[in-house]
Amino acid sequence: MARVVVIGPNLPRSDESFHVHAAGCSDIYRSLDYRSHEFDSDKANAMEFNSVEEIAEYVYADQIAEGGYDAADLINDFRIFPCVHIMTYTPKKETPVVDTKTVTVKRKITFEIYNSEMFFEAEMTVDKSDLDEALSQLRAIRNVRNIRF
Ligand SMILES: [Zn+2]
Repeated sequence: MARVVVIGPNLPRSDESFHVHAAGCSDIYRSLDYRSHEFDSDKANAMEFNSVEEIAEYVYADQIAEGGYDAADLINDFRIFPCVHIMTYTPKKETPVVDTKTVTVKRKITFEIYNSEMFFEAEMTVDKSDLDEALSQLRAIRNVRNIRF
């Protein structure tokens, strides 16, 4: 679940109709492209979604209800900025067939690291069997915070 702000449409200099930022992202207030009054209500309107498809379903609810549009076909209208941690698609319900003998399960760890001026977000991928070791090493670094896995 990501708490986001969706700005648009009619954005200048953008191939996508809508820009999606994490709620509270400073770009929402800093970007020259978002200065127009018509975007003021967008900036103030943070909403929670599980995927880009869900955002498309919400924004294009009328068009989808009228028929002829599918949310999955509309996701390219949204530029998802790196501040947003959200799935770019909604996974299908079927579980893929996995050969557990040969597949190494990977886990993603995200964290913030301080570079003497600011915290920035980073991520790493480790084998599931190395997860505990990676976490304890990360936790030992003083300039790292907000570890999620
Ligand atoms: Zn942003």
